[in-house]
Order: sequence, then structure tokens, then C-alpha cells
Amino acid sequence: ATQPYDDGNIFARILRGELPAKRVYEDDFALAFHDINPQAPTHILVIPKGAYVSWDDFSARAGDAEIAGFVRAVGQVARAAGLVEPGYRLLANTGLDSHQEVPHLHVHIFAGRPLGPMLA
Ligand code: 5GP
Repeated sequence: ATQPYDDGNIFARILRGELPAKRVYEDDFALAFHDINPQAPTHILVIPKGAYVSWDDFSARAGDAEIAGFVRAVGQVARAAGLVEPGYRLLANTGLDSHQEVPHLHVHIFAGRPLGPMLA
């Protein structure tokens, strides 16, 4: 079972405007901002506005409109950043083995250099 959502997590605080972030996109379903510790020349995080711990939680509990809106937002962020032609990688860590650090679902967008083969 998924852990209960912690309203005090750092991305919830960014969503509420309590903590600063370099925001790049926002709509009814999603907020995107630059990762504070980028692992590629472009490293953006996209989070749903709803309170979901992880990909597992979101995919199980979110409504169809939220899911569609979030998926479209991820694509829109990448298009707006000009990443479609050079290409980009999406990553969402979920659960203990994945090393997910922030318990609010986030999709990483990595781009800006050849990324090499998938992580092990
Ligand atoms: P995870 O390991 O949970 O998949 O990824 C968490 C990501 O959030 C990491 O890449 C980390 O650098 C980023 N991060 C952690 N705290 C903050 C913060 O306060 N602001 C921003 N913009 N990114 C953060």
C-alpha cells in the first residue's frame, strides 16, 4: 500500500508558493520547474497539482481528466522547451528501490546532451 500523502513535502510547498522554484510551466493540472540539482543541461520536474505520492498512487487514484491533463502537460513542457527534435528522457521514480526522495509524484525531463543508454 502507498504511504499517506504528506502535505508538508517540499513539492507541496512549492505548489502552494511557500518555497521558490524556477517555474517554467503551469496549468490546471500540472506545474513544471527546474530541478535544483540538475543532472543534465536541461533537467525539469513536472508535478501534478493533486496530492499524489507517486506514479503508483497517481495511476491508481487520479481521475481520467487529471491523468490526461498531466500527461499532456509533460509533453507541452518538452515542446515549449524545444526538446522534441534533439530528444529527451522521462523518468519517474516510484517506491523504495527507486530511490524516490520527494513524496509527491514528479516526472523528470532530462535533455540537452546525448544521454547514453538507460540507467541500470
Ligand atoms: P527523486 O529522487 O525523488 O526522483 O527526485 C527528486 C528531485 O528533486 C531531485 O532531482 C532533486 O534535485 C530535486 N529537488 C529536491 N529538492 C528540491 C527543491 O527544493 N527544489 C527543486 N527545484 N528541486 C528539488
